[in-house]
Amino acid sequence: MIDFDGKCALITGAAQGIGAATALEFANHGADIVLADIDEAGAKRRATEINELTGRRAIGVFCDVASDDALKAVLSKTITEFGRIDILVNNAGIIRKGGILDLDTDDFDAVLNVNLRSYFALTQLAARKMVEAGEGGAVIMMSSLNAVLAIADQLAYVTSKGGLQQLTKACALGLAEHNIRVNAIGPGSIMTDILKVVMDDDVARKKILSRTPLGRVGDPDEIARVAVFLASHYASYITGQTIFPDGGRSALNYTVPVAE
Ligand code: NAD
Repeated sequence: MIDFDGKCALITGAAQGIGAATALEFANHGADIVLADIDEAGAKRRATEINELTGRRAIGVFCDVASDDALKAVLSKTITEFGRIDILVNNAGIIRKGGILDLDTDDFDAVLNVNLRSYFALTQLAARKMVEAGEGGAVIMMSSLNAVLAIADQLAYVTSKGGLQQLTKACALGLAEHNIRVNAIGPGSIMTDILKVVMDDDVARKKILSRTPLGRVGDPDEIARVAVFLASHYASYITGQTIFPDGGRSALNYTVPVAE
């Protein structure tokens, strides 16, 4: 049994999508939750839902992860409210379209700040608290299959996700002696709001499914459960890894037939 009773999980980008599903799944397994998001109303709404559904304490907090002050504030709020932090899920992510010939440098900075720099900065703040408490902990980075597969006109996004693999490894090595495990999840195509729109387009749907051996896109719950596993004692000997829940996509060389 995975039981996080008495433990506190801080999850960024938790107002919707994979982050919201992850917050609920951790609460289902007994954790108290801090949902941090730039969408404060969404985070608070989701926190109320989680509290009603699971009976666990959950609070929604405003946090723009691109701001160091906001990261310090959210960590201090976590400690004030719950007295501890045991699990950190860095999940907030943005995209800005553009490739090597046309990507604006401001857009590159914006994506790298949210998707990579904030993961480093918040992990540092949380890990210092975990080390101080001396009870170990778990950090999870929400990466992507694009950590290893590139898209030409998503240069900033794929660069940020590639960087997360090495950040994960370096953090895992640096925190191993404190029994703080650091792992990443690299989802394939997951049915969040953006993908729902894409999947309504038949050509785009076929393109996605032709590279997905399991024949469907993933559900946010299927990523949330990997996060719970990685933070749990079932994963007690796993650190520094990126796990790819991608429906078999990274194992595929050519394409698979798609049902009409
Ligand atoms: P989403 O857009 O549905 O949710 C992202 C959340 O992050 C939103 O609630 C948003 O308000 C929040 N956010 C954005 N900028 C922020 C900031 N500066 N500070 C705080 N919060 C901020 O996205 P999603 O699909 O749920 O993706 C979540 C993570 O999973 C991202 O890191 C994404 O790269 C990764 N991912 C998603 C997929 C997919 O198919 N959906 C695939 C691979 C990886």
